[in-house]
Amino acid sequence: MSDTFKPTKYILQSVKTGKTFPDEGWTLDAPGESDPTLIRAIYEKKQIDVKDDSFGLFKFADWLPVNKMLKGSYAPVTYKSEGLAKELGLSNLYITFSGYWPEKGIEMPTCSFKETEAYSVGGRLHVEDGKVLVVASAGNTARAFARVCSDNKIPLLLCVPEDNLNALWFDEPIDDSVVKLVVTKSGSDYFDAIHLSNLAVQIDGFIPEGGAKNVARREGMGTTVLSAVTHIGRIPDYYFQAVGSGTGAIAAWEANLRFIEDGRFGKNKMKLMVSQNCPFKPIHDSWKADSRDILPFDDEVARKQVEEIDAKVLSNRRPPYPIAGGLYDAMKDAGGDVLLAKNEEARAAAELFEKLEGIDIHPAAAVAVASLINAVKENEVEKDATIMVNITGGGENRFKNDKKVTYLKPVHIFDISPSKETVEEVITKLF
Ligand SMILES: *Cc1c(COP(=O)(O)O)cnc(C)c1O
Repeated sequence: MSDTFKPTKYILQSVKTGKTFPDEGWTLDAPGESDPTLIRAIYEKKQIDVKDDSFGLFKFADWLPVNKMLKGSYAPVTYKSEGLAKELGLSNLYITFSGYWPEKGIEMPTCSFKETEAYSVGGRLHVEDGKVLVVASAGNTARAFARVCSDNKIPLLLCVPEDNLNALWFDEPIDDSVVKLVVTKSGSDYFDAIHLSNLAVQIDGFIPEGGAKNVARREGMGTTVLSAVTHIGRIPDYYFQAVGSGTGAIAAWEANLRFIEDGRFGKNKMKLMVSQNCPFKPIHDSWKADSRDILPFDDEVARKQVEEIDAKVLSNRRPPYPIAGGLYDAMKDAGGDVLLAKNEEARAAAELFEKLEGIDIHPAAAVAVASLINAVKENEVEKDATIMVNITGGGENRFKNDKKVTYLKPVHIFDISPSKETVEEVITKLF
C-alpha cells in the first residue's frame, strides 16, 4: 500500500435542484436550500480504476469522498454462487458478502457492511480539525464505528441504549481514550439514543455523523455494488437487499448510475428488490400504496412489531424514503419492489444458505435471501437473470467461535430524556 495517497476530486450536488457546490469538509445539506434533499458526490473520474486488495476498501477510492486512507479495512467480496444457485435453478446468481469469512479473504471484525461506511466516513473526516464524531446506534453501526475509530484514533462519542450493550462485542479491546460510550438507561430505545446524540452535537466541537445525508456513508455502502459490478463485468439485472433505512439501496442505485456513465458495464438499471421483516414493514406499506410519505402508523403497534422481528437492524421508523434522492425516488427510477419475509422464512433461508454456501449469515441478510427464494417461487425473476444478493452481514458465529470476545463498557449512563445542560456538562468532560 503506497503512502502517497492522492484523494480523488469531486464536487457535491443537490438532487432536488441539481445545483453543485464544493465539499466544505463535512457538508451534509445543500447550502441555501430549504427543501429536504440528499446531496450527491460527482467524481471527476468517470471510469473507476480499482486498486489491488492490499488497499482494502480504499481500492475503490476513485469513487469515495475521502481525503485519506485508514488502516485495517476490507472491501466486500463478490463470487458466483453454486450451491444456492443450483437449489433455486438460477444460472447467474452472485453473492456480495460483507463480514467474516477467512476462506474468501474477508475478515471484517465487526461482521457487517456497516464497517464499509465507518471507513469511508472516517476517511472523509478531517481529524486535524479536532472534532469529535457523534454516532447513535443500537447495533452494527455502533460496533463498526467503535472498531474503526479506535484503530485509527478518531475521537468518537457513541450513544447507545443500555439494553443494546450486548451488540458491542469485540475481539480486541477498544481504545477508550478515543472512543467514549454513553448510554440511555435500561428501558430506553434507539430513539432515546438519537435524542441524546442530537443534544451532544449542539456542543461546540461535536459533529453528527449524518446518516443517509452523509455522502461518505452512502458511498461506503455502495462499495458492495462496486465489488459486484467490477467482478461480474456488468451491471446486474436485480439487486436484493434487506432494508431498514434503505440507505444501502439508495447507495446501490447511485453506484449504478455512475457505472452507466463509466460506460464499460452496460446501461441498465438494476431493479431494487428490497425486503423487510414481517410484521414491521412501513416501507413496504408505503410503496404498495404508491405514497412518497411513510404512511402514518401507531407508535405502540410499531414497538410491538419491532419486538417481534428477528432482524432488529431493520426497524428504522423514519427511513430516508420521502426525501429527494431517497428510496422512493430510487425505486421509481430503477424499478423494483418491496418484498417481505417472516421470521420463520428468514431462519430457514439462513440455514439453507449456511448449508449450501458455507457461512452463517446475519438475520437481516437472511431476510434478503428469503425474499429471493420467494421471488423465484413466484416467477418474479427470470432464471437466467444476473442477480446480485447483498449479504449485508455474516460470519458472526464463525468469528465468535474463532475468537474470544470482550465488551465495551459505558462511561456514563443517562436518564431516558436528559436535559441539554446535563448532557453538555457530562460530555464536555469526556474529551
Ligand atoms: C443496517 C443493516 C441493514 C439495513 O441497511 P439499510 O441500507 O440501512 O437499510 C441490513 N443488514 C445489516 C446486516 C445491517 O447491519
